[in-house]
Amino acid sequence: MPALTDYAQIAAGKVRELYRVDDELLLLVASDRISAFDWVLPTAIPDKGAVLTAMSVFWFEALGDIVPNHLVADDDPRIPAEVRGRALLVRSLDMIQFECVARGYLTGSGLVDYKRTGAVCGVELPAGLVEASRLAEPIFTPATKAPIGQHDENISYEEMVADAGEETAAELRDLTIKVYSRGAEIAEKAGVILADTKLEFGRDASGRIVLGDEVLTPDSSRYWPAEGYVAGKVQPSYDKQYVRDWLTSPESGWDRKSDTPPPPLPDEVVAATRAKYVEAYERVTGKRF
Ligand code: ATP
Ligand code: MG
Repeated sequence: MPALTDYAQIAAGKVRELYRVDDELLLLVASDRISAFDWVLPTAIPDKGAVLTAMSVFWFEALGDIVPNHLVADDDPRIPAEVRGRALLVRSLDMIQFECVARGYLTGSGLVDYKRTGAVCGVELPAGLVEASRLAEPIFTPATKAPIGQHDENISYEEMVADAGEETAAELRDLTIKVYSRGAEIAEKAGVILADTKLEFGRDASGRIVLGDEVLTPDSSRYWPAEGYVAGKVQPSYDKQYVRDWLTSPESGWDRKSDTPPPPLPDEVVAATRAKYVEAYERVTGKRF
């Protein structure tokens, strides 16, 4: 039985790590760490890594007719016992260095761009849209992958074409919109709004475009509760709202504008947040965690 230390670590993000298993396979490990306001918090959320991993597996299967994916196994002797349940054995891909984002609602950096230019990533939108407005059609808004510590930068489709080529860009745009649309439709039936999502694709040894990374998890997507949705105000985040509310409350004693790291989370906030992740998984997938 392998231990995690038997594998070379090849990448570490804020909340996940990537290990090389052999020439063809990687191990994608999701931790229980949580980030908010661009900080990794000092307190972990128990089971978060397992819930997000299970959610990715659900979606890879639900999207299998739209796009092939990198998932090889979620239960395999090559997955070390210490990370079993929160690690996926995946096919190593040559990653395409763009964040492929689809938005069905206007918020975040999309709203910032719209307010400044009337467009998001070069996609012109009608006047009068506000925070959380539903768009008539989902739009493709790619971004460059920024190095650790920096923010991804939104780019236009034309800029993507200039870099990746017309054929690749068109294929990525088409797949991204299809994945988002399927995800939003399934989530909507469960009373959850999938506002937007970020996908990462790569090419396999035969050159075929394959969906990689995590997919339609709360870490890569904005999920909002459908009940209480109203355009014109910031929607509560399905998973991180308790954390954000507490961190910005006087009780935390934390100043968001300072350079001081956020304090540890109280047990109630941890428990409520864990319950939200489980609820998101159970509602969207219709399965028990
Ligand atoms: P963060 O998301 O914290 O800003 P990040 O994107 O650099 O940082 P993670 O998302 O935690 O880090 O790490 C996942 C990394 O693994 C990404 O760089 C992603 O492109 C890469 N990756 C995912 N799937 C594959 C794959 N099948 N083959 C090769 N690399 C992959
Ligand atoms: Mg990432």
